[in-house]
Amino acid sequence: MMEDRPVTACPECAAEIDLTYCDIGGTITCTVCGAELVVLALDPPEVDLAD
Ligand SMILES: [Zn+2]
Repeated sequence: MMEDRPVTACPECAAEIDLTYCDIGGTITCTVCGAELVVLALDPPEVDLAD
């Protein structure tokens, strides 16, 4: 069964980033490469590297 999760790709390593528990403007760390990402939008899900 597929869930409609807000998922996007890490801009650094293209790993799947799950934004289910994130808020816009918040940050999340990529579990694969450790990059700190800022949540820009949830619909569609979009992240960018944090400064
Ligand atoms: Zn990554």
